[in-house]
Parts: sequence; C-alpha cells; structure tokens
Amino acid sequence: MKALGIRSRLTVPYAGLFLLVVVILGSAFFRVLSSDLDRELNRRLDHLCTGLWGYIAFDGDKPVLTFNREDHSVLEFLRTASRYYQLYDGQSGRVVAQSEDSALMHLAVSPADALRLLRHPGFDETRRFAPLRFRSIVFHASGRAYVLRVGVSLADDETAMRQIRDVLLLLLPVAVLASVMVTWVISGKALKPVRELRLAAHDISISNLNRRLPSRGSGDEIDLLAATFNDVFLQLEESVNRMKEFTAGISHELRTPLACLQGEAELALADARMPDCYRQVLTSQLEEFHKLNRLIDALLLLARAEAGEIGLALQRLDLSTLIAGLVEQIRFIADTRHVHLELRCDSPVPAIADPQWLERAALNLIDNAVKFTPAGGTVTLETAVHDGWATLRTSDTGIGISERDLPKIFDRFYRADGSRSKAVEGIGLGLTITKWIVEAHHGTIAVESMAGRGSCFTVQLPTTRETAPALPPAQAFL
Ligand code: ADP
Repeated sequence: MKALGIRSRLTVPYAGLFLLVVVILGSAFFRVLSSDLDRELNRRLDHLCTGLWGYIAFDGDKPVLTFNREDHSVLEFLRTASRYYQLYDGQSGRVVAQSEDSALMHLAVSPADALRLLRHPGFDETRRFAPLRFRSIVFHASGRAYVLRVGVSLADDETAMRQIRDVLLLLLPVAVLASVMVTWVISGKALKPVRELRLAAHDISISNLNRRLPSRGSGDEIDLLAATFNDVFLQLEESVNRMKEFTAGISHELRTPLACLQGEAELALADARMPDCYRQVLTSQLEEFHKLNRLIDALLLLARAEAGEIGLALQRLDLSTLIAGLVEQIRFIADTRHVHLELRCDSPVPAIADPQWLERAALNLIDNAVKFTPAGGTVTLETAVHDGWATLRTSDTGIGISERDLPKIFDRFYRADGSRSKAVEGIGLGLTITKWIVEAHHGTIAVESMAGRGSCFTVQLPTTRETAPALPPAQAFL
C-alpha cells in the first residue's frame, strides 16, 4: 500500500480536528440557544399566567374578564394570554371557563389531572393538534381554590431552532471543505522547497558530487536540511576523491613491481641461460615480491584501521629505552649508508603507549630520516618530556621537503617530487600509518623541514592514563 505523503498526513488530521471542533462548537451553540429560548418561554408563560389571573373577577360563581377596553396594550396582552386558557374548579377538577381555541382543540385536561395540577402546579406540554406549552397556577377567590392553565404555541421557537440547525448542518461540510483546501494549499506551499530540494538532490550523482543543494537564505529548517545534506555531499566528495587517489595509487604501486616481474620472466625465458642467470633473475624477483608483500601489508593495515578493527594494548613504558633499542636495529643500515646516528635519550621519558605500534611509528620516522639523508649526514634522535608530553624528535640533515610537498606528506601514496626522494625506495604509506598510530594514542605529530637542509619530525604522546585513549579510535586518519 502506498504510504500517505506529508501533505495528506497534514491535511487529513487537520480536517478531522477542524470537523470535531466545528461539531462540538455547533452543538454547544445549539444547546445554549435552545435552553435560552426555553427559559425565555417559561418566563413569558409565568408572566401571561399571573397577568391573566389579575384580570379575572367572579360574578357569583362565574368568572369574568374585567379590563379597560380602551387600553390597547392590555387588550393585546389578554389576546395572547387568553388564547389557550382553562380555569378549573379546585374542588371538582371540572372546567369552569376556557378559551374558544382551547374548547375547539379539546385542550382541557380531565378532572383527575386538574386536581393533580392543583397539588403540583407547573409546566406541561401537548402536541395533539399543535405544539403547546402550558403553565398552571393555583389561586383562591371567595374562599374557593381554582387552577388557571395558560398555554402558548411552541411552533415559532421550534421553527427557528430547526432553521438554525439546518444552517449549521449546511455550513459544516462547506467549512470542512474550505479547511481541507486551505490546509492542502498551505502545506503544498510549505513543502514546495522540500520538493525542489528532492529534485536537486536527485540530480546529484557520483559523477557530479561537486554540485550542491540550493539554499534560499531564509535560515529555516529547509535551509538547515540543505546545509546538512551539503555537508554530507562534501564528505562524500572527499571520500570518493580519496578513494580515487587510493585506487590510482594502488594501481601505480602494483604496476611497477608487476611490470618488473613480467619483464624479468620474459627475458629469462627468451633464450636459454646458465643456472647462475636464473638465480640472478629469481633473486631480483624475490625483491619485487618482498616489495609487493610490504605494500599489501600496509594496505591491509590501513583497511583494518579504517574498519576500526585495531585495538591498542596500552601500557606505561619508557620512550628512551624503546628508542635506544630501535637504534640498535637500524644502526647497521645507517652505517651501510654512511649516515651518522646520534642518540640523545639520556633520561627516562614515561609514556602511555602500545610498544609494538609505537615501535612501528618510530621505525618509519627513523627509516625515512636515514633513507633521505645522503652519506656523511647525521640523524639525531631525541626524547624528553615537554609540557607534560612524552616527546620524540627525529631530525636529519637530509634532502628536506619542499614547502609545496610538506602539507601532503601524510597523505596516502604521496611521495615528494624531489628526484632523490623518488629515487629512494618506498611506497608512500609509511607516514600515513605513522600519523594514524600517533593519533590513535591521542598524540600529535608535526614536521618542520626545508628543502636541501633537512627535516625534523616531532611526536608527542600522553604521559598519564588520564590523557591516554580509553578505546582504540576507529578512523583516526582516513
Ligand atoms: P615512503 O617513505 O615510503 O616514500 P612515507 O609515507 O614514509 O613514504 O613518506 C612520504 C614522503 O615524505 C616520502 O616519499 C618523502 O618524499 C617525504 N619524507 C618523509 N620523511 C622524510 C625525511 N626525513 N626527509 C625528506 N623527505 C621525507
């Protein structure tokens, strides 16, 4: 079943509510009016009944109406009051006098009922020939009790109430229809920007993620929605761009060793060679395999970090001891390249870190420093506590990094353009991984460098558990 749109969902309840309110107000108005008319009629009947009694006199036992025939207002009053009246004897309950209309329409009650009225005078109604309401009062004259019963027609009041009811019933559907139409139009207008937003969003696809939703500048909810979507599109665009760069980077990094492997294999097969030649080719291929392995390892690590699958086993350690141990591992390579390694890690530097991951980060930095420093240069490693942070500084007198490359060196697959840098082996993922490791420790990494003069990388790590991360961060560097 198709779900109702917002417009219908706004209109239907609103129309229902409006209908309910109109029905409640209409029936309340009708009831108030009807009881007002009722009260007014009873007051009028009281007035007619007591008034008429004032004009009744007795000629012996015979009641007669005595009044000034010149007085038109009295005449008018008596015409109304005496139209439907009966006078009953209080002892026998028999009618002693009644109006012509009353006699014609047989409005007089039985003697038993008249005696009941004597005991309980009040109001009663009949609808036999016409709708009439009566008022009975008891009075005494010449020592005898009488019941005077005066009636008025209910026809006018009932007709008026019927007309009011008809008008209300007619107005009800018109009002509801009008409210439905007004709500439909207003909600349509209110939702128009949402429709425009939907159409604009529909036009944005993976191929044109640089497009943005229009903002009307009103600062309302729709504009906020558009701004939120635009933020999401921006993030998507950046992610897609990163993915594109990533794919291009992987393809590039895979193509070179694969092309080497293929070329060497083709060459070896081209003509019969001596076993020594095959050994040479296989040794060279093994190097390429190692390179591919390193690349795949780094890619897997990035993928796991991206998925938040890497946890840190944090512990309190001495940064100076850890770096001193690493230097011993790398000293051989540095000596081979004739790079002097200087260690300034004299005093213990406490840090909260995962030793394995921290070693990997530090090794990347030291390896880079040695790689990018020409023979005769110096790499200095220094540990200290600065402003409450455990600090590791690796500085070298190497080729340095240009101002243009500096902001990008932590990006995946980025390798600075300098011919020396390109000539040095690497895949451009070392610093990305290092940055992730440092930030996963809630630490910071900064670089200062000048092309041709050397570089200095500074890593800062928490020294206490309060500043160390409680949980491994999921996507610290992506
Ligand atoms: P790789 O070392 O595999 O090329 P990295 O991510 O470790 O990748 O480094 C990225 C780039 O940053 C390097 O290719 C190099 O251009 C530059 N770089 C890093 N460390 C240094 C350094 N100590 N001196 C000069 N350039 C450096």
